[in-house]
Amino acid sequence: MVNSEYERRIAARFATFDQDGNGYIDRADFNAAAKALLAEFDAAARSEKGQSLYGGAEALWQGMAGIADRDGDQRITREEFVTAAVKRLRDNPDRFAEIARPFLHAALDVAGADGGGAVGAEDLARVLTVLGVPEETARSVAAALDTDGDGKVGEAEIVPAFARYFTVPE
Ligand code: CA
Ligand code: CA
Ligand code: CA
Repeated sequence: MVNSEYERRIAARFATFDQDGNGYIDRADFNAAAKALLAEFDAAARSEKGQSLYGGAEALWQGMAGIADRDGDQRITREEFVTAAVKRLRDNPDRFAEIARPFLHAALDVAGADGGGAVGAEDLARVLTVLGVPEETARSVAAALDTDGDGKVGEAEIVPAFARYFTVPE
């Protein structure tokens, strides 16, 4: 049996990936996320940053599909997500971090990362909001990720946090 708190948390993570809310995760959701991020930060799809973001989104989709799309129909249903993705991600969070890293790296760049690959907590909150995180949650998450309190969040802080978020303890 699955406890209800666990179910609720899984549902929230599934909804984060299912950007268009049609009940399954597929490539279109990742393209939509990339497109929304570029629009939010006035970046062109054809720019170097735009191309990196779309490339990272495609890599994240391929990685997720490799883990979760058990019947190979290029769609991850909620059942596939729960039975395959979450269990395997939980068993191997480092692998998930590597799958997500190119997208997160590119997203930080689009959001105006400086030379060290870090963005302001405010800009990170905008990224999270665009990806469907409620604004207040996005602000508190962004602030919490700035563990050294310098007002900026870098790749080294965000990649493991992203993996932790999707590896839900039972
Ligand atoms: Ca979808
Ligand atoms: Ca499938
Ligand atoms: Ca920091």
